[in-house]
Amino acid sequence: MSTAKTEIYAVKRDQYDMIIGGHSTAGSEGEYFVTYNPATGEPLAKVAKATKADVDRAVQAARTAFETGKWKRSPVNKRSRTMNKIASIMRSRFNELVELEILNSGKSLSAAQGQVMQAIEDFEFYAGAIVSHRGAVNPMPGPFMNYTLKEPLGVCAQIIPWNYPMMMAAWKIAPAIATGCSVILKPASLTPLTAIVMTEICHEAGVPEGVVNIITGDGATVGSYLAEHEGVDKVAFTGETGTGKDIMAKASQTLKRVTLELGGKSPNLVFADADLDAAVDGSLFGIFYNTGQSCEARSRLYIEESVYDAFMEKFVEKAKKLVLGNPLDQGTHVGAIISERQLEVIDNYVKSAEKEGATIALGGGRAKVDGFENGHWYLPTIITEVNEDMKVVKEEIFGPVVVVSTFKDEKEAVKLANNTDFGLAAAIWTKDHAKATRVAGMIQAGTIMINSPFSAFPGTPFGGYKQSGFGRELCIETLDLYTETKSVVSYTGSRPLNPFNL
Ligand code: NAD
Ligand code: MN
Repeated sequence: MSTAKTEIYAVKRDQYDMIIGGHSTAGSEGEYFVTYNPATGEPLAKVAKATKADVDRAVQAARTAFETGKWKRSPVNKRSRTMNKIASIMRSRFNELVELEILNSGKSLSAAQGQVMQAIEDFEFYAGAIVSHRGAVNPMPGPFMNYTLKEPLGVCAQIIPWNYPMMMAAWKIAPAIATGCSVILKPASLTPLTAIVMTEICHEAGVPEGVVNIITGDGATVGSYLAEHEGVDKVAFTGETGTGKDIMAKASQTLKRVTLELGGKSPNLVFADADLDAAVDGSLFGIFYNTGQSCEARSRLYIEESVYDAFMEKFVEKAKKLVLGNPLDQGTHVGAIISERQLEVIDNYVKSAEKEGATIALGGGRAKVDGFENGHWYLPTIITEVNEDMKVVKEEIFGPVVVVSTFKDEKEAVKLANNTDFGLAAAIWTKDHAKATRVAGMIQAGTIMINSPFSAFPGTPFGGYKQSGFGRELCIETLDLYTETKSVVSYTGSRPLNPFNL
């Protein structure tokens, strides 16, 4: 299959190939791997398996596209229009994209709808933002002038995780191509399908060949090779903190630009003066949205002592009402876990908490879901009576598991919130605006939510402090992370300069 602009392709199909230099292609060895439906455990489609030779091909295609400059030198309004067209094609195929995202990830319908919509809005946001992305004119002494140019960085490798397959692909591709860069996207092997279709849509909308390439395959071979490849100018990575460290080390060999969006263990602080019902609802969403498989999951819940009992009674009662069911149903709150392996990781964490003396207040094991007996499901789980040294409090679990503890005052709340190597997000629940502002200023995290269950919208910066990574996505500033600033100094005087006095 080729990706000629006129081709009508099915969003849902049995086989998905890579796209290199504008053409669909199998891997150089002709191998395929199988991707599954996590809710049922059944095979969903076969996907081309990339080799190092395919990475070389993709880097070459991206380099050629960049150097010939058909995209980067096209007028900014044209790039902007093309990106709006990508968004409008995605809109016209919204329901199919949502369905494919659900089948490949096991997430619930409402979660998938929100995320696919945000992927669309990301392209629209950057279509608008790029038009006003500009350099500056800086003061210089005498008859000199200085202006700066924002030039696209070049060939960008973008490596993404499985928890928000389509949204992460948009967070990566949209700002990069807005600036004129070429990209090689490497989606997670568990969830490659919607990113492949998104790449096809980029071509349908008129992005020239070689500007957006997608290769599918093993992180340890293909992803790692991209991170060290001499032909790559930048690596943008989202995933586990450990993988991020490995990528940064490899990228250092050629001083690639690096941005990293890594793990989290975000605190959720409920003060005694909060609207308790809103705090309960927001805290449930904060941990159980996307089945807890969120980098910004509020997985450490700290309650002010005086309202602990009142809060917990409502929190546990409402958590019992969460519906695990067919991910394609509107009424489902909590979807499947991505894989059997991840299910085991989660269960081992919960078992370790029990062994260390914590109390499992709710859940704590695999869930049985009618009609989905062979899928990967875990009960929404609430763990109490924990201390700060327990593994479940320190490490990212990446599942529907929250640990709950108390604080006695504002000072202790801040201390506990910051007692982590991570710094991605935090939530604060209080009606006292001055206190909320104070605490927001003291917490070391890239995103703070005040009385809000939601954190990420196109335009709002998203990224980490500490070991949650660096760089910001989803915002205007991201454009600077895909460009170099060139400073041009010009002498504008009429008298020739003779600095050596010769
Ligand atoms: P992961 O690190 O296992 O894999 C992420 C990607 O990297 C995949 O495409 C994988 O194939 C690839 N990869 C694996 N090993 C590699 C290597 N050695 N070199 C290069 N590439 C490699 O992450 P995951 O399990 O897919 O996703 C879960 C993690 O992602 C969690 O830690 C979560 O917090 C994080 N995450 C962070 C954000 C954020 O914005 N900060 C957003 C979503 C997810
Ligand atoms: Mn992983």
